[in-house]
Amino acid sequence: MQFDTEIIVVGGGVIGLAAAESAARSGKSVVLVEQHFPGTQQGSSAGHMRFWRTMYDEIKLSLLAYRSGDLYADLERETGSKLLYRHGLLNFGEETDYTPEGTLLAPVKTLKALDKEFRLLDKNEIEREYGFRDLPEHYVGIYQADNAVTDVKMTIQVLAGLCSQNHVQILPRRRVIRIDSLPGSVAAILSDGSRITARKAILALGPYTNELLRPSFGFELNLHMWDMCSAYYRIDGTIENYAMWYQFERPKNGYSNLFYGYPPVNFGRPGFVNIGLGWASHTFSRVSQSQCAPPRIDLEIVRDFVRDHMCGVDSTPIDASRAIAVHLPDNGCLLDYLPENISGHQNVVVCAAGWAFKFAPLFGRLCADLALEREFEEDIESLSISRPNRISAPPLQVDLANVS
Ligand SMILES: Cc1cc2nc3c(=O)[nH]c(=O)nc-3n(C[C@H](O)[C@H](O)[C@H](O)COP(=O)(O)OP(=O)(O)OC[C@H]3O[C@@H](n4cnc5c(N)ncnc54)[C@H](O)[C@@H]3O)c2cc1C
Repeated sequence: MQFDTEIIVVGGGVIGLAAAESAARSGKSVVLVEQHFPGTQQGSSAGHMRFWRTMYDEIKLSLLAYRSGDLYADLERETGSKLLYRHGLLNFGEETDYTPEGTLLAPVKTLKALDKEFRLLDKNEIEREYGFRDLPEHYVGIYQADNAVTDVKMTIQVLAGLCSQNHVQILPRRRVIRIDSLPGSVAAILSDGSRITARKAILALGPYTNELLRPSFGFELNLHMWDMCSAYYRIDGTIENYAMWYQFERPKNGYSNLFYGYPPVNFGRPGFVNIGLGWASHTFSRVSQSQCAPPRIDLEIVRDFVRDHMCGVDSTPIDASRAIAVHLPDNGCLLDYLPENISGHQNVVVCAAGWAFKFAPLFGRLCADLALEREFEEDIESLSISRPNRISAPPLQVDLANVS
């Protein structure tokens, strides 16, 4: 059978670009369809920076992060572009229940098992060395030097550049409305009525995942989304050592107490730090329910934290922005074929949800490995689509005629 292309990738965010680049590198023909343009601000890969972190409760995730870090380093060497800025990560606060960022202290076990160096700090050391103040006495911190701030726009630029170098045909402003999985092939139906046939499809759709899974395969992932917001805050230069940091704390007055911050970096707003909330007041399950503006309450919670606990930072938020984060109930990432009960399930690879920017070069390669049926060494059981609760239960059908 003749195909229009070997692999069709739908989605030009960081994962779709990495997948297309990896598949094309092996000489396969690849078409990438993106409804806006690669690296659009309408998806999850929006904004300037992301955590590249290795402090995970689960050792398997930490190993995947380190493996992905090696692939980021390969990209840096190959293109001469800096993608990861290794400022280290300070996690601090108090031990909480499991949060979307894991827990404060469980990663200690992971770091010890992997024989990675780390440092434990008390409240006074956190304040003295990293520019915080008036923290509760019982706070503790863990600092790990490997962790890095990822330059989002440079990563997208590098991957898009490698796509074109490897002859990926990118079709911007084209939307796929359905995928038909046929024996040994797939067909992507586009909104303009055109059709692209391929041997395999890779779907990296971010917040739009269910918009394509539902009409194509009749199921949805159990996704919930956040309008997640952050802002820049001016620094006065009195503090020398800003880390990338995450604060763990229990909710206060019904609102989250999870905050994160980036140090000043030259690819952000010069002279400012970026600080956000590891939570969102507005959550939803359909992308159409997202609100464009950052919710006011989310900005106020962060502003109050900055005012009360940070030194050398003006608490007026500047350039506040929001982007859509996508979560599964277990806060993990998903990378797998379609569920086995769908005919031709191995024709389609899906990658969705979680804090996946740090894994982008690895997840891109793994998507291509699955699509091209290449062997790989990584243990990706934690990414499986068949983990509990990852697929939405179908709506309950009640036959009113038979209700007694
Ligand atoms: C505020 C925020 C902070 C985050 N922080 C971190 C962090 O610190 N560390 C970390 O590792 N991760 C983090 N993440 C998560 C990370 O950014 C995402 O996991 C990652 O960007 C997902 O990339 P993606 O390519 O899968 O999805 P996206 O970037 O959303 O790309 C999907 C693309 O598919 C396109 N598309 C969708 N449907 C169609 C269709 N039918 N036809 C054509 N095109 C289509 C969309 O337009 C979009 O461009 C954060 C996310 C947010 C929002």
